[in-house]
Amino acid sequence: MAKLYFRYGTVGSAKTLNLLAVAHNYRQQGKYILLLKPELDTRFGRESIKSRAGLEMAADILVAPETKLLEMNWDGVNCILVDEAQFLSAKHIEELRMLTLTKDIPVICYGLRSDFRTRLFEGSMRLMELADSIEEVKATCHYCNRKSIVNIKHVNGVAALDGPSVQLGAEEKYYPVCYKCYHKQVEAASKLQELLATV
Ligand SMILES: [Zn+2]
Repeated sequence: MAKLYFRYGTVGSAKTLNLLAVAHNYRQQGKYILLLKPELDTRFGRESIKSRAGLEMAADILVAPETKLLEMNWDGVNCILVDEAQFLSAKHIEELRMLTLTKDIPVICYGLRSDFRTRLFEGSMRLMELADSIEEVKATCHYCNRKSIVNIKHVNGVAALDGPSVQLGAEEKYYPVCYKCYHKQVEAASKLQELLATV
């Protein structure tokens, strides 16, 4: 039976670059692979999978909430690569899991583990539960040399503590941070909020 893989990391961990490299290698070997991404992620244009390093490939399938993956034609597909898998629903992860079983197609998902409030995304949670292989794609903290494990959101240079977990294309910036730096930033932002409340 083909396997379901989850390769997770923080922002800036070169997950998409890793995906594009795998896609390139497979295609050079003459393999038929398909690139999937959630329709939600439109940062770099609807149909494009683009790494921060500038490499880019077209997405073959955009997964919308109503997409039924099990009803699509997967004949001859050697591998499915999924970018930004954290934004997929639990149902879509289950459908991908089923494709490894019924179609014998390996599925490699790349995505964030948690949002800026350190909570698992829906897609990531289901992948943690169902994947055969879970691998960390490592990155370094934005502020120190430790390994990053969470993402912090900055709005106008200050850590943001609330707001929706999915807010693509807005002005805020996300950084990979270790837990020590995350805690420090969140504390500073809380103090600032208190201070502003008294003005
Ligand atoms: Zn740090």
